[in-house]
Amino acid sequence: MGTVTKGRNRSDRVPERRGIVKGAAGLSPPLSSADLEKWVDPGRGAVLDSRRFAAAFGFQENRVGVSEATTPASGPLWMEITGFPGRDGWRAGFTTRRAGGDLAAVLPLLGWEGLPILKPIQQHGNHVVVIDSAGAVPGTPPQGDGVVTSRRGLVVAIASADCVPLILFDHAHGAGAVLHAGWRGTRSRIAREGVALLSSAFGSRPADLVGLLGPAIGPCCYRVGGEVMAEFRAAGYPEHSLFRRDGDGFLLDLAEANRIDLIEAGVPADHIRPTGLCTRCLPGLFPSYRRDGVRAGRILTFLGSSPEP
Ligand SMILES: [Zn+2]
Repeated sequence: MGTVTKGRNRSDRVPERRGIVKGAAGLSPPLSSADLEKWVDPGRGAVLDSRRFAAAFGFQENRVGVSEATTPASGPLWMEITGFPGRDGWRAGFTTRRAGGDLAAVLPLLGWEGLPILKPIQQHGNHVVVIDSAGAVPGTPPQGDGVVTSRRGLVVAIASADCVPLILFDHAHGAGAVLHAGWRGTRSRIAREGVALLSSAFGSRPADLVGLLGPAIGPCCYRVGGEVMAEFRAAGYPEHSLFRRDGDGFLLDLAEANRIDLIEAGVPADHIRPTGLCTRCLPGLFPSYRRDGVRAGRILTFLGSSPEP
């Protein structure tokens, strides 16, 4: 990365990215695990170069906000893409390993103390729960692998530890989604289901949606068998752009599969930003089921809003 000089003479403004980008590799500069380690200041628990992170996401106004460190050398408690989604009190982000799978502990730090959290009981399917603007928050978590909502004063979340967490948002209607896409959910096209529900429940146009693909196991580490490739082929995915042979198995780019699913559902390619952060490659920052096994914690991917705009 030391040879990247393109941005050296540019102004401090993050350039707005336009046009079609081809795969995660088309983003400039791509994020890598090594980069992120440099951005995290172990002494302060802060990400050092938020502008570079913002450039990778392609949104001008975004910064990564992290908690003020309370435990030095253990990294941030959550990562928030401020400015995303960027509408009247809506905020979104990802908890890190240090949050220990406890979103309630993070809410006071977001100024959301006491807000209800709706986190469905995940099934590795493609069922998505809808909570409209006047919808009651179920006392018992419903089953599903995502939530779409326009309701203010609610935090919706999904848990993951290698699977792809997605956040979608529609500025025009003030509605969004969090979705959990493991390989089964991805094969079942849960990203597309989220787009369809935002359209049917809130009138969202796919072309207006913006999306983030959060930290997930990357194509560097996600080894699967031929039977998984066969399932993706049967589901209509372009297997050759998602699978790379690795010995007697394959390496799968699960985030790219979800990016493709969103594009096929009508979300413009330049509205979708993968983080490119591999959970398995970042032991200090994120839990990973493949790395940590049953002891793995969870990343909680959240989208919420203050009760009033
Ligand atoms: Zn990796």
